[in-house]
Amino acid sequence: MSGDSLSFKGIVISSSEYKDIDRLLSVLTRDLGLITIMAKGIAKMNSRHAFLSMSFVFCDFTVTKSGAFYYLKEASIIENNMGLSSSLEGMTVAYHMSELIRFSSFDNMPTEDLYELTNYAFYHLSHKPEDYKVIYAAFNWRLLYLLGFNKVYDYCDRCGEEFNTNSFLYVDIDNSHIVCQNCCSSYEKDRLYELPLVAVNALNYFIESDIRKLFNASVEDSLLKLLMSFTTIYAAVALERQITTLDSLSNLEP
Ligand SMILES: [Zn+2]
Repeated sequence: MSGDSLSFKGIVISSSEYKDIDRLLSVLTRDLGLITIMAKGIAKMNSRHAFLSMSFVFCDFTVTKSGAFYYLKEASIIENNMGLSSSLEGMTVAYHMSELIRFSSFDNMPTEDLYELTNYAFYHLSHKPEDYKVIYAAFNWRLLYLLGFNKVYDYCDRCGEEFNTNSFLYVDIDNSHIVCQNCCSSYEKDRLYELPLVAVNALNYFIESDIRKLFNASVEDSLLKLLMSFTTIYAAVALERQITTLDSLSNLEP
């Protein structure tokens, strides 16, 4: 047990009710990973920390640690990501990202890349919510890479050849293998996920790009639709979760 205080930056991924006026905050930090902070009294009308009840706010925190628990002492806003609330699509994608992070069991692990990825994703989504499609697909694929569920696709896993310009590739979602057209039997083509080379190149970019530039990628709309669908199915298999974000997004369409 220790009453020493500890300061760090973090993003509020979610907040849940705990008793009447207290909240448990899920906070993603650079060095401590995803932690839970007990925030006493922040749901009181005049609490100076009321802003912590909003998700996706990026803050400086000071906490004390007691046993396995962190208790809030002080917090101040660095970036409120308020732009998110102006867009239903933006909010839907933000909730999706926070769910994937919570599904991913990073508890108490150092998670520098995940922290940076999440921070840029929320920031970009707040400032340009109209980019929600590319943010969704790129976040999914890069997160799965950080978790070790996928890889850069450079060549066929069966014949070792590099891909031809006009080729279609076939991904086995269960083991992340990719095979070229020549190596893929018609029986397999039904079972595997078919992607044109342009989609494979975009996926590779989502893994290899500098995180600061990742969400500026300009991708044509029909290709984005394919990438959103593919990365959703892939994430659902990898994380063993049902993911219904695409249904929620299509319900928002006029
Ligand atoms: Zn091949």
